[in-house]
Amino acid sequence: MIKLNMAYKRLEPTYLFSDIAQRLNKYEQNHPDIKVIKLGIGDVTEPLPEACISALHKAVDEMASRDTFKGYGPEQGYDFLRHAIAEKDYQSRGADVSPDEIFVSDGTKCDIANFQELFSQDIKVAVMDPVYPVYVDTNVMAGRTGGSSDGRFKDITYLECTPENNYMPDLPKSQVDLIYLCYPNNPTGQTITKKELERWVLYAIENQSLILYDAAYESFIQDPELPRSIYEIPDAKKVAVEFRSFSKSAGFTGLRCAYTVVPENCLLHSQSDAEYSLRAFWNRRQTTKFNGVSYPVQCAAHAAYSDNGQAQVKGLVDYYLKNAAVIRESFISMGYQCTGGDNSPYIWINVKTDSWKFFDALLNKTGVVCTPGIGFGKCGKTFIRISAFNNHDAVVEAVERIRHSHDEILKEMDQNS
Ligand code: PLP
Repeated sequence: MIKLNMAYKRLEPTYLFSDIAQRLNKYEQNHPDIKVIKLGIGDVTEPLPEACISALHKAVDEMASRDTFKGYGPEQGYDFLRHAIAEKDYQSRGADVSPDEIFVSDGTKCDIANFQELFSQDIKVAVMDPVYPVYVDTNVMAGRTGGSSDGRFKDITYLECTPENNYMPDLPKSQVDLIYLCYPNNPTGQTITKKELERWVLYAIENQSLILYDAAYESFIQDPELPRSIYEIPDAKKVAVEFRSFSKSAGFTGLRCAYTVVPENCLLHSQSDAEYSLRAFWNRRQTTKFNGVSYPVQCAAHAAYSDNGQAQVKGLVDYYLKNAAVIRESFISMGYQCTGGDNSPYIWINVKTDSWKFFDALLNKTGVVCTPGIGFGKCGKTFIRISAFNNHDAVVEAVERIRHSHDEILKEMDQNS
């Protein structure tokens, strides 16, 4: 008999996106003439940068000839890409990251999901609330979290992000071993200053913790004072692993390429306090379970670092940030308190009422889809997340519809409360 890993039974059913789909289906059946505008999911809509497309074509042609054909590549990624990443994303910004600390992969989601495999079952884990659900669910799958009640797992430390703390969580009250941080944040869009990030690095050094720093939205940072990498903080290389992706910067959500930086001097400890290299074990894990990203995709990622590529990536980021500004400004002008949308593609809106009720009223009155904040954790229950990833005209139309029907939305909320 094949028995289930019972840890999987502890996962909260993923009602969020199926619930959204169900409500959307019903709405579309009842309103066949209204074009729904989806500002819910964080998927890009605009085509790949031209520099990446031509690199892809060229690489595909290379695969068509025996002389230039490539089979399996290095599991860690081709040197040409690892060097470009180290130089352009780190060394040029004063962060001392070397190519052999970079592991190219097919996504930040899988890297961050897989990384916890390296740690003992009994480590204490802290996540922010609201949170990108992958951090929690993969620790649940690993059997590390205990059971849940009221949407929270017994053995996870939740770092609450609320209007009262400006969505900047306090340091954990007691010692934790593994801390997931995400800046710019999904879903709140909040960013972190160097000073605030320094507190986390210091905490990690003092408590022998490790920070898993998810910087998937780093390319949206406009403010030159904000850190783009945790390695801009002194000594962070001792206590932090950083995850970055080409998904939201160069529009690779369908192409798949990302990378993880595992510094040479990050250490793991045994029960008897022997020290091991985290990088060596991640390398061991990857070479056993992963066979690398395809050559054409790595060529496309590499092309994103060319002068043309950089300009085109900036064009894409600016495009979505223009959408974000439109969304943010409209909601602020309607009286809502918002975070994000300036250095991030997400706008977190305090609707001060049940997030599903607001979702329904917004959909029913305007045909616009958002994401109810409760899907990201308890602290999201009176918030919605709006994503700037859509065509600009669609975003403009969405906010016009919302402005136009705002009184009706509020009236429907009142009737249902
Ligand atoms: N990390 C965060 C915070 C995200 O929001 C997402 C995608 O939405 C990812 C990682 C996934 O990145 P990738 O497409 O590289 O798997």
